[in-house]
Amino acid sequence: MHNNISPWLHQLKVTRSIDRLDADLKTDVAVVGAGIAGVMTAYFILKNTNKQVLLIEGGKVAHGATGHNAGQIVFEFEEEFSVLAERYGLEKAADAERLVRGAWILLEEIYQDANLSTPMSSFMGYNGYASIDRLMEELRNNLLRVEAGLQVFPIYIAEDAPGLENIPKEYAELYSLVPHDDVLALLESKDRQYIAVISERKGCVNAAMLIEEIVGYLLSVYKGRFTLFEESFVDEVILEKEYGQIISGKNIITADKVVLCTNGFENFKITNKAGSDIDVKFHHMVKGDVGYMAAYLEEMTHPPIALQFHDSIEPEADKPAYEKIYYYLTRRPFEIEKDERHNLICVGGPETHLESADTYESDGLYMEEAAESIENFIHRTHKGAPKGPIEFKYKWHGLMGYTPTGLRVVGEEPKNRVLMYNIGCNGVGILTSIYGSLRISQIVRGDTLESSVFDPKDTYEAYD
Ligand SMILES: Cc1cc2nc3c(=O)[nH]c(=O)nc-3n(C[C@H](O)[C@H](O)[C@H](O)COP(=O)(O)OP(=O)(O)OC[C@H]3O[C@@H](n4cnc5c(N)ncnc54)[C@H](O)[C@@H]3O)c2cc1C
Repeated sequence: MHNNISPWLHQLKVTRSIDRLDADLKTDVAVVGAGIAGVMTAYFILKNTNKQVLLIEGGKVAHGATGHNAGQIVFEFEEEFSVLAERYGLEKAADAERLVRGAWILLEEIYQDANLSTPMSSFMGYNGYASIDRLMEELRNNLLRVEAGLQVFPIYIAEDAPGLENIPKEYAELYSLVPHDDVLALLESKDRQYIAVISERKGCVNAAMLIEEIVGYLLSVYKGRFTLFEESFVDEVILEKEYGQIISGKNIITADKVVLCTNGFENFKITNKAGSDIDVKFHHMVKGDVGYMAAYLEEMTHPPIALQFHDSIEPEADKPAYEKIYYYLTRRPFEIEKDERHNLICVGGPETHLESADTYESDGLYMEEAAESIENFIHRTHKGAPKGPIEFKYKWHGLMGYTPTGLRVVGEEPKNRVLMYNIGCNGVGILTSIYGSLRISQIVRGDTLESSVFDPKDTYEAYD
């Protein structure tokens, strides 16, 4: 049996033939990596500039993290808003949130522009909390958001929640008290440990299918300006002062700009011939976690939903926010084979840390303990859980690249501006990579941009 089958790749039917690099070429912008970041970067550069774009992928389009995620469209940084406000200042933190939330609109515009047919749903989703202490962080975040003029979403707390009296008066306007059963109803949960819920706009999409469709659109609309090579692994990037060279097997691509959309785990060498060493720092910038997921099918009797569950186990104080484990569940219509429609229930949460990202194998063994833990969670929590053992139709894992800031790295390499990054999945990356791609296109166009929390410079400083 295959060890890593995601529903997204199962559903992906590619009829396009594969082109491999077999000549030396020149282009304006070379983008390395054809996950959602690389494809969206190509899309925005083609749309917003008149440059030629060459997209080169070591495997196949969408077969990295993009084809192994949970497919929830959700705004989230893997760092608390209050921490970002302290680190970068309230205004810069608020700008980042505003811009990434704006990726919802970018996505809708892409759908319209390219006349896409990949199903995408958008609805209210809910995050459940099992302790007031955990929720307090969200209240603190929202108070700062209000101060910064950002939108905040409703928070409902159960009238009988233990510790209600500990909520400071300054947060009173930020939540409503409701019957405990209402909290559980929103979360579709029978587990009474959840005493609060935050509502938030969410959605779901098969990100692999989405970007495969966009690739088809780019190939047909930008003939002569857009080239795609798959199964063409990049071994080395050599940077000169005015251009870069990508070495792939015996071929060389020469480009004015090289954009890495490799999620941070590219296993290649970067040689900077026009400045100080980049390689060592770059390869330490992103740390890997493997996220495990499992999914089962049920009758299509309920609408789509996206939920998160934050348990009461206290996170270790010295751990960054992204290491706080939570489970996430999505239910969505899913066409397993043509005209065979069901609801698909996907659950994720368990993660393992990698000592070195080089050790991750996409077809590596699935950790069965992860499926057991997911099954226990579903039985314990989900009101509509199947009776008896759950037969998972899909079990899969994917590589998440965490940057030291918990934020995506987007922009020019300070030591050589020929090189650019749009990397670092940080657990939740669909909207951030879309915004990152727009930002890269603006830099390539020559716009003068305000500095942002995504600048590579900040990530370097956090690493130092
Ligand atoms: C289990 C899991 C669940 C997730 N759930 C969600 C979610 O619900 N919502 C959400 O928003 N985000 C989620 N994410 C994160 C999201 O999937 C990622 O942020 C996003 O897919 C990253 O896209 P990317 O293009 O940066 O990386 P990838 O999709 O990994 O693409 C990078 C590409 O670069 C290629 N590459 C690397 N090295 C080379 C080389 N040397 N030469 C050529 N090509 C190379 C790879 O083959 C790969 O195709 C999840 C991630 C995981 C793993």
